[in-house]
Amino acid sequence: MLIVQKFGGTSVGDLERIGNVAKRVAKSKDQGNDLVVVVSAMSGETNKLIGYADHFSKSPAVREMDMLLSSGERVTSALLSIALQEMGYDAVSMSGRKAGIYTDEKHTSARISHINTKNMQNNLKEGKIIIVAGFQGITDDDNVSTLGRGGSDLSAVAIAGAMGADLCEIYTDVDGVYTTDPRIERNARKIDKISYDEMLEFASLGAKVLQNRSVEMAKKLNVNLVTRSSFNENEGTLITKEENIMEEPIVSGIALDKNQARVSLRDVKDEPGIAAKIFSTLAENSINVDMIIQNVGHDGTTNLGFTVPENELETAKNIMEELNAAKNLEYDNNIAKVSIVGVGMKNHSGVAGTAFSTMADNNINIEMISTSEIKISMIVDEKYSELAVRSLHQAYSLDQKS
Ligand code: ASP
Ligand code: MG
Repeated sequence: MLIVQKFGGTSVGDLERIGNVAKRVAKSKDQGNDLVVVVSAMSGETNKLIGYADHFSKSPAVREMDMLLSSGERVTSALLSIALQEMGYDAVSMSGRKAGIYTDEKHTSARISHINTKNMQNNLKEGKIIIVAGFQGITDDDNVSTLGRGGSDLSAVAIAGAMGADLCEIYTDVDGVYTTDPRIERNARKIDKISYDEMLEFASLGAKVLQNRSVEMAKKLNVNLVTRSSFNENEGTLITKEENIMEEPIVSGIALDKNQARVSLRDVKDEPGIAAKIFSTLAENSINVDMIIQNVGHDGTTNLGFTVPENELETAKNIMEELNAAKNLEYDNNIAKVSIVGVGMKNHSGVAGTAFSTMADNNINIEMISTSEIKISMIVDEKYSELAVRSLHQAYSLDQKS
């Protein structure tokens, strides 16, 4: 098998851990696999480098930032290669350039345009373990570029896609994807297999196991992704095509996002163009509006409500006041979004009914609802949001293996 393995910042957080990663990689090599290993910078390293630049400038040139930040990953790749060589393995470290990773010119948030796999292919043929510095590439003018924070996942998935790898394993400090946050519900279970689309929902709902962009890319390139822990031998979660999952549960998991706030506008003028003005101004200011509801109007006015991430509420407030959007503006920080995710929902009715009656049985008021083919989200009072998660987890029997 050709496997791309990616080790995140905590997995390579100190020299001892890099040593453990070397042992793990060696073991996989001994099992007969061809390996391309992608590494992050040691945890905290990228932030430290950003701090260094900050000492000299509040707005350093992005090209220089990429030169600086890309060094963190190179340190890890060289150290891991040295450790493996010392154990008697034939390993070779590669920068993004040597690995043939080409990007556009958008320094500090570049996108991969293509990968020239020639160097990697040749070294694999010679039986070498390739260690690639993640998070970086090279522009057509030979400048170093980086892919945005958390971008090493993206490097790994892109390489797996370009090389036609059988598997892309993302090693982190958690065992995989859970039916819900185990800190909230102790009967939460690790999910064995999940579809790309479900994983995208979980990722955008705040499950921080995988970067959203990398799941999207895995879906596009048809890469089988596994997320697992580098600190134990437990099998992780496979993220794959829906067709590869034989027995789809109706509901795969419950997500909770407490980082939500609501803006309510009362007595908004009920006429064409008002929503356009409000939401395009929010979009211009990069505010991520999630749920929107508008009531039936009366006497030429209506009520409008929408949710934004908590840390964008201040900006949203200022925009609303500047626009003079409504006579009456209210803000509520104490809300949370509880979501039920599952591809099986597409073919089953009654999932929403169960959700709403579970809330009713627990006396939890649902303040907003939104649905998609594979998700139902409800806004509730943050105080009761964990109770909501536990009740739903039980209502859909998520503690039992399907
Ligand atoms: N070191 C980079 C960061 O912290 C990339 C990564 O770890 O994926 O954002
Ligand atoms: Mg909140």
